[in-house]
Amino acid sequence: MTCPAPMAQASKPKMAKLYFHYSTMNAGKSTALLQADYNYRERGMQTLRLTAAVDTRGGPGRIASRIGISAEAHGFDPEDDLFELIKTYLGQQSCACVFVDEAQFLTQAQVWQLGRTVDDLAVPVMCYGLRVDFRGQLFPGSAALLAIADEMREVRTICHCGRKATMVVRLGANGRPLQDGAQVQVGGNETYVSLCRRHWRAAIAGDAAAISG
Ligand SMILES: [Zn+2]
Repeated sequence: MTCPAPMAQASKPKMAKLYFHYSTMNAGKSTALLQADYNYRERGMQTLRLTAAVDTRGGPGRIASRIGISAEAHGFDPEDDLFELIKTYLGQQSCACVFVDEAQFLTQAQVWQLGRTVDDLAVPVMCYGLRVDFRGQLFPGSAALLAIADEMREVRTICHCGRKATMVVRLGANGRPLQDGAQVQVGGNETYVSLCRRHWRAAIAGDAAAISG
């Protein structure tokens, strides 16, 4: 028996992975995505950017960050087969990495399609999305990503008290937190406030001071 030479190991191509960068609202996920995407392109590598077609903040088919940078993206619908979409794209041009914004809106099937993309097409896929909704419940896409992603990274932001914000409240027209309603309401960033779990619990319980400190 002989040990494999270190050089042979070092020259092996890196395994592609499925990444999930998660956080609460307004933590800078889109900014982080666009920066990572830029790093590839700066080195002359092509990428594919996808975003939920439901998100029209940056206009149709754009990823826009709150600090003012944006880039074109391909919008995906729940019916789209992302494995087939990416496979077709790879047949037309090179692609070093696939970026997915608003990944909480992926269906469970689409997350598995992205897993197949990584495994069978050997392309890394970087997903960015919210972990929980304003009711404190996982989004379907986020649940599936937490289940099968190879690597998870938290994009952090803070509550007004200085603790890490992991939760979000949706404020109604009267400025009070909503306890029920549709999970998806895209575009109204001003109606969401990210809080630590302690202040989220107080806000949901009706303590108005818990929202802004
Ligand atoms: Zn707090």
